[in-house]
Amino acid sequence: MLKKVSNLEEEYDIIVAGAGLGGLTAANVLAKRGWKVLLAEQHSMLGGLATYFKRKGHIFDVALHGFPIGMKKTLRKYWSKEMAEKIKQVKSVRFDNPQFSVETTFTEEDFTRILVEDLNVDKKTVNEFYKELANMNFFDENQMNNRELFEKYFPDRNDVVRLLMEPITYANGSTLDEPAITYGIVFSNFMSKGVYTFEGGTDLMLDMMEKELTKNGVDIATCAKVEEIVMEDNKVAGAIINGKKIKCKGVMSNGNLLKTINEWLGEDYLTKEFSATVNKVRLNTSSSQVYIGLKKGESFDYIGDLLFTSTYPEYDAAKLIDKNITSRTFSVYYPDIRPGTDDYTIVASMNSKYEDWIDLSKEEYKEKKQELIDDTIKILDKYIPGIADKIDYTEAATPKTFERYTLHGKGSSFGTKFEGLDVSMNLHKHINGLFHAGSVGIIMSGWLGAANYGVIMANEVDKYLTSN
Ligand SMILES: Cc1cc2nc3c(=O)[nH]c(=O)nc-3n(C[C@H](O)[C@H](O)[C@H](O)COP(=O)(O)OP(=O)(O)OC[C@H]3O[C@@H](n4cnc5c(N)ncnc54)[C@H](O)[C@@H]3O)c2cc1C
Repeated sequence: MLKKVSNLEEEYDIIVAGAGLGGLTAANVLAKRGWKVLLAEQHSMLGGLATYFKRKGHIFDVALHGFPIGMKKTLRKYWSKEMAEKIKQVKSVRFDNPQFSVETTFTEEDFTRILVEDLNVDKKTVNEFYKELANMNFFDENQMNNRELFEKYFPDRNDVVRLLMEPITYANGSTLDEPAITYGIVFSNFMSKGVYTFEGGTDLMLDMMEKELTKNGVDIATCAKVEEIVMEDNKVAGAIINGKKIKCKGVMSNGNLLKTINEWLGEDYLTKEFSATVNKVRLNTSSSQVYIGLKKGESFDYIGDLLFTSTYPEYDAAKLIDKNITSRTFSVYYPDIRPGTDDYTIVASMNSKYEDWIDLSKEEYKEKKQELIDDTIKILDKYIPGIADKIDYTEAATPKTFERYTLHGKGSSFGTKFEGLDVSMNLHKHINGLFHAGSVGIIMSGWLGAANYGVIMANEVDKYLTSN
């Protein structure tokens, strides 16, 4: 049951601020360990970026394009067996661009087939590349970046880099300049067994999560914005939520890392050194999306579940976020995502820069959104001829939309760049009782990364609460 701030208790052991997958999972783990947990979410709905919305008879999933098989284990261990059973494999992932057009199950075996048979790469080199990824260790001092990694195995093969890198750029905003370890971890997670989805949709998953949290005794408050961390004797002693002080021994923020430190806490509590480290953390890029719903009774033949399309001649991470959009990922939701329904929806996702959207006048913003929708439908027509006539609903989201709904600085959809991980993981070592779990450092993003990070930090909170 969702509560209002006015109905909350005066004191909790821990306040989890933000109900994204990291916050939701952390709250559940901590409640199961017997702690008194308040989950405070500023929006009226749970889920954060892992959300959905209903319009004109359609349900649109915002971030259910796919995640690695690891999500099944995470749901089973930290949520419920019933939820884990809803995890189903996505059948086909397609790539269509000027360099190649291929269809894959997105597994190591199938990617090897494409690299060898379609892109003529030597099989031994492919195997060595996978071996290097498998041997990558987060704690090694390996300073190689993605550009160097690809240059080592596939020099001057922009097409190969495109196949290997483009889906990951979409998934977490990373570029060739990111540390190769981030690519190694995320790509290997997917390659282990392909791409998976949640049967029943995001709405069912969040509904099941809410029930599980309530069963485990979590107080869940929506429209509950954490405005300030209250410090007493150099430790966290509470939080101001919608102007009301609620006492607690610790706060775990699932909100944006930089906002947590700079706005909720404030500079005064940071040492000079830590402040300098925090100031170096860069936000990751943002996203745009176009949502398309089909008229009742309309349908189309199967075209794959995930379709990475581009009209740009080669892989270029900068072009993937350019305001002149050339690359889009289509997530195609057939009725079987929600068994028993007959709704077809398509969500096109693009990586975007906040700066390209923020200075537009109201009129320009509206026009640009319409342009985004129209261009997307034109591109989609190549895969579903005559699609325009079958549509009864379209809408677009921009970095401004993501900022408005999640309060993430600059609408950042994938948290921070790599350096944010260290700050997030060690925040509680600098500020007694303040923890962070949420998209950071590229590795800890996506459904699996965020949920697992929630568990990692819940363990830290558990230790802290036990000893205080
Ligand atoms: C367009 C798009 C598509 C995506 N597709 C996929 C996909 O297919 N597969 C995948 O694995 N990942 C995908 N992702 C990424 C994935 O959804 C996110 O990485 C993940 O859901 C983030 O979880 P999180 O725990 O970091 O929290 P977030 O989802 O970032 O949520 C943070 C929460 O904190 C709340 N909050 C913020 N400030 C406050 C405050 N002051 N007080 C209270 N609450 C506050 C916000 O409202 C929000 O609910 C996608 C992301 C985007 C943007």
